[in-house]
Amino acid sequence: MSQQQSRRSFLQTLGLAGLSIPLISAGNCNEQQSKQKSMQNKDGKLGIALVGLGGYAGGQLAPALQQTEHCYLAGIVTGTPSKAIAWKEKYNLPDKNIYNYENYDSIKDNPDIDIIYVVLPNHMHAEYTVRGAKAGKHIICEKPMAITVAECDQMIAACKEAGKQLSIGYRLHFDPYNLEMKRLGQQKVYGDIKKISSGFSFVAQKGIWRLDKKIAGGGPLMDLGVYCLQAVMYTTGMEPVAVTAQTFPISDPDKFKDIEETLAWQMEMPNGLIAECRTSYSESSNFLKAEAEKGWFELQPAFNYSGLKGNTSGGQMDYPRLSQQAKQMDAFALSVKNKQQSIVPGEMGRRDVKIIEAIYEAMKTGKRVTV
Ligand code: NAD
Repeated sequence: MSQQQSRRSFLQTLGLAGLSIPLISAGNCNEQQSKQKSMQNKDGKLGIALVGLGGYAGGQLAPALQQTEHCYLAGIVTGTPSKAIAWKEKYNLPDKNIYNYENYDSIKDNPDIDIIYVVLPNHMHAEYTVRGAKAGKHIICEKPMAITVAECDQMIAACKEAGKQLSIGYRLHFDPYNLEMKRLGQQKVYGDIKKISSGFSFVAQKGIWRLDKKIAGGGPLMDLGVYCLQAVMYTTGMEPVAVTAQTFPISDPDKFKDIEETLAWQMEMPNGLIAECRTSYSESSNFLKAEAEKGWFELQPAFNYSGLKGNTSGGQMDYPRLSQQAKQMDAFALSVKNKQQSIVPGEMGRRDVKIIEAIYEAMKTGKRVTV
């Protein structure tokens, strides 16, 4: 099995990363109203173009876009001509909605495309988000939002300047199991949380871009750990004030040249609660567990695309199967149509990259780093 295939089969096995909703500014509303006529192309749905046709776009997002009610797969951007042919046939895409990385900017002239979904390796998120916003499109960008906070700032500024919305591919905000953890935690159904822990790890194959710091921006913390810190925040309803972190000796220096292999970190929450998290590219874990005054609640697996399992001291969770990605993209399409900010906006992605930067600093210095 090739590395690409093995990552894909891993993701397939995975079955697989509470805000106010302020109205966007009046200026943006007016601009959006004038564009409203060019929106809602197919049966009132907004057109989405996927940028980067790798494992996640092909395995999850395109199939989910066959189930969405408020948006549809209108176009693609790819650097691989053979993929353009295969996708055109599979999804019945017109030639005029197929772009490559060179003519990407000309998407601004295409009224079929309302939303650009950036599904490229992490180091390309900022560039393709900024270019997409300059082309006058709303943007969904995959996690992690970018590889530095400075890039996140550029992305947010570009979308603001264009009067377009920016959202991050945080699909678990639309998953019923994770939403139940959020409800149990934030509504203190079992009282105050006294202990919370989360881990997400898998064994990475040699040679994948996720092991290259220039492309990934870091190691498993960037790719998997971001789910743990997100989960702690939506379960507790709090953001960390400080972090500490420890890394461990590298088992294979050839494989882990400039990224961490395994990282444990702690997040100090404003009420003194310490969240314990761990991520690794040479272990297997996938859980979120909270222990409170009067009971406990947990997910294991917690972060998959489907097949999640939830338990509480009061009984089992059981929700019907749904597409997290279809819910996520429909929610964004509705945010655009209703001119309301996404519940997973660029600012949330930036917040998380800021925490990641603090965790890396704590890892390097061995010190407690305030966020
Ligand atoms: P992938 O390697 O399967 O696909 C990446 C795509 O980008 C490929 O089509 C590749 O051809 C293209 N590409 C263009 N320039 C490239 C370059 N310089 N190097 C490598 N590839 C290049 O990756 P993926 O798993 O689809 O991940 C893409 C993004 O989606 C990442 O940011 C990842 O974190 C995110 N993702 C999110 C989820 C989720 O559940 N939200 C799941 C998987 C991946």
